Amino acid sequence: MVDGKRYGLDALVGESLRAFAIPMTTKFRGTTVREGALIRGRAGWGEFSPFPEYGPRECARWLASALESAGSGWPAPVRDRVPVNITVPAVDPEHARKIVSASRCRTAKVKVAERGQPDSADIGRVEAVRDALGPDGKIRIDANGAWDAGQARRMLRQLARYGLEYAEQPCATLEEMAELRRHVSVPLAADESVRRAEDPMRVRAAGAADIVVLKVQPLGGVRAALRIAEDCGLPVVVSSAVDTSVGLAAGVALAAALPDLPYACGLATMSLLRGDVTADPLTESAGELPVRRPPVDLTALARWEADPVPWRERAEAAARYL
Ligand SMILES: [Mg+2]
Repeated sequence: MVDGKRYGLDALVGESLRAFAIPMTTKFRGTTVREGALIRGRAGWGEFSPFPEYGPRECARWLASALESAGSGWPAPVRDRVPVNITVPAVDPEHARKIVSASRCRTAKVKVAERGQPDSADIGRVEAVRDALGPDGKIRIDANGAWDAGQARRMLRQLARYGLEYAEQPCATLEEMAELRRHVSVPLAADESVRRAEDPMRVRAAGAADIVVLKVQPLGGVRAALRIAEDCGLPVVVSSAVDTSVGLAAGVALAAALPDLPYACGLATMSLLRGDVTADPLTESAGELPVRRPPVDLTALARWEADPVPWRERAEAAARYL
């Protein structure tokens, strides 16, 4: 690593690094606690919260994102608010209706293909969401890659009657997605298929999706994600990795800087955490998030603060791959 980088990094991940562990309202990726670190630089705070199973090479992009947030900040926004979607987990129709009715979001993302649930549960849930949203609201579904190609074809044909904006990662592989895309009229979005900078180009080359879901931290920062969006050329949906408001602000910055933002963003995820590291969390209001950057509040952080040593080590290991 070059010396300049090393010195900058030492300053950031040394004394300034703080770690957090915040309980979640629902289980996510097999865990009920969201853990990560915050680093402070001249531009503000950055979030470094790669998932536990990620190794140093993968963590390097998450670190690059945190360093950009802390060190240089983000490109100028072209809008001052971004529309967001409400997320409806794999709940029963009555509960789904209540979630949508309690929100002013005009776009709902409905989780489908939950393990152990019959297809009829998905149909009942989407029907209830359409009922609650009315004919003008938008519905996208997310199968997290759980359907095989045949099942996806059947389900999308059935669900299409409720009017779908798009289907997010209906199948796991690019081959299945590309095959499915030739047989259904609902647009497809790639989410799990996009985890590295080169993935959106692969998605496009395979003809596997009409839309790509981009997340700032795994792609290495706001500027890196903007470049990827431009190179890939497909419309983008900006989503979070269930970050604190510090990480969410970077997602908002990406959504605010994109020349076109045709879809509501998956950034209304603050409600999945039981707390935040800022005094003024980035929570959705009237279906939008404001383009702003709440600073870390040390009193709020103190409530969730965790041992920084393992995170300092993780950042240092990741830094070898920057
Ligand atoms: Mg998804």
